[in-house]
Amino acid sequence: MPEKMLQFIRLSQENPEKRAVKQRREDFSEIYRSFDTSHAAAQASRCSQCGVPYCSVHCPLGNNIPDWLKMAAEGRLEEAYALSAETNNFPDICGRICPQDRLCEGNCVIEKDFESVTIGAVERFITDTAFQEGWVKVPRPAHELGQSVGIVGTGPAGLAAAEQLRKAGYQVHLYDRYDRIGGLLMYGIPSFKLEKEVVLRRWRLLEEAGIHFHMNVEIGGNKSFASLQARHDAVLIATGVYKARDIGGPGAGLAGIVPALDYLVASNRRNLGDTVEAVDAAGKNVVVIGGGDTAMDCVRTAVRQGAKSVKCLYRRDKANMPGSMREVKNAEEEGVEFEWLSAPEAFLGDESVTAVRAIRMRLGLPDASGRQSVDPVEGSGFTLEADLVIKALGFDPENLPSLWDVPGLEVSRWGTVKVKAFSFMTALPGVFAAGDIVRGASLVVWAIRDGRDAAEAIKHYLAAKVSGQSTQAAAE
Ligand code: FAD
Ligand code: SF4
Ligand code: SF4
Repeated sequence: MPEKMLQFIRLSQENPEKRAVKQRREDFSEIYRSFDTSHAAAQASRCSQCGVPYCSVHCPLGNNIPDWLKMAAEGRLEEAYALSAETNNFPDICGRICPQDRLCEGNCVIEKDFESVTIGAVERFITDTAFQEGWVKVPRPAHELGQSVGIVGTGPAGLAAAEQLRKAGYQVHLYDRYDRIGGLLMYGIPSFKLEKEVVLRRWRLLEEAGIHFHMNVEIGGNKSFASLQARHDAVLIATGVYKARDIGGPGAGLAGIVPALDYLVASNRRNLGDTVEAVDAAGKNVVVIGGGDTAMDCVRTAVRQGAKSVKCLYRRDKANMPGSMREVKNAEEEGVEFEWLSAPEAFLGDESVTAVRAIRMRLGLPDASGRQSVDPVEGSGFTLEADLVIKALGFDPENLPSLWDVPGLEVSRWGTVKVKAFSFMTALPGVFAAGDIVRGASLVVWAIRDGRDAAEAIKHYLAAKVSGQSTQAAAE
């Protein structure tokens, strides 16, 4: 029976059920179960159909949330799927891993008194149902165009751009140094947040649509950037950011201190059935340094690998950590201990690390950016046992101009690729860039948004090229 809207007064917020903690600690399957049809309809019906939907305003994709919630509440799921797919190439992925508490749901107007509508879970339900029912169609173009686009990177930015360009008829070639698509969706984010089949099913669709995937191809390694420029009418750089920020201090070079992404990639590969020499946390006292999403993924991976203890060391407090609160709560439930306001001073051990010496921190006055400084508390040192230390301190871009031998590619002082406002074109004509390599480490939903916008800019550029207009003017 179709649900009426504005049911937030009568129905309380319900999130999809989480699997029992004991089970979660033992496997890498997603922790949230999916809504069933009646729960999805009931939760969607809580929406008050705001005239100015702040949920949509704060969704980077501007998703038409109130309309697809209404359709879901009324059982019109195929229509809801079509509408949600118009603005989002991967609603099933965003529904799972967007930090909704900071985006759409955090800005839902009923949040204040009644707790937000569970937008992400409904979005995921709609698209998972569409896959089950066969409503998700191969994004084939209506007609073919002769021009080709080369895209470096198969993360969410590259994939979203590829799909948009292919739908318009362009010949799209994706290049990636990895053997599977998805970038951080495949090898960074663990499967307890995003099962890999959700990414792999997209790969099959995009291949069927006629997109050419060139895997195990590293630009600047076994293929030059110049060869891409020569082959394609336009090139998009969507390579993400991978240079891990490091930590110094006494003992920082000891064995057993590893970068977060190496640890996560190896774990993801192993779960995908690859034979890899992976650092394993089984039986170890693990200390993870950092407070972002990457640190949360590491602590929860270590729990599942059977670590003896897992501690997270973060120099600010819980309220000031950059990671999603939902993930912190999940980690706490799974047995991770947090040492808030604590920073490492030294790593102890002969050859391999055996302990971390740390010091308590206090929050000071805000700096020019408004962020509070952190200062060590004298005499507050303490020691944590550790046979595995994972450094999750964030990522910076590689120096692409020198790695790829393209000195004309302009980058910012942080190393991110500079693009012209709105055009996504770099300093090199016909070369565009999108996603983390432009923004710095960000979110999947922003990468999708950038990929879509860059695809629009490339379409204008290529259309102008055909009609003989100034391509520079078209790009601006
Ligand atoms: P990426 O996803 O990094 O993809 C870039 C691709 O380019 C990769 O496949 C890479 O192999 C390829 N590439 C790079 N250099 C070359 C080269 N020279 N030649 C060929 N190929 C190359 N965001 C969220 O919204 N929610 C989360 O829960 C979340 N969790 C995260 C957890 C971790 C551990 C990390 C590290 C990030 C997380 N993020 C999360 C951030 C999110 O994953 C990124 O913002 C997003 O993936 C960026 O997309 P992208 O397409 O720009 O780059
Ligand atoms: Fe919310 Fe992300 Fe979906 Fe937008 S894409 S509605 S921010 S979950
Ligand atoms: Fe519905 Fe909340 Fe969006 Fe308003 S802000 S339209 S109540 S989901």
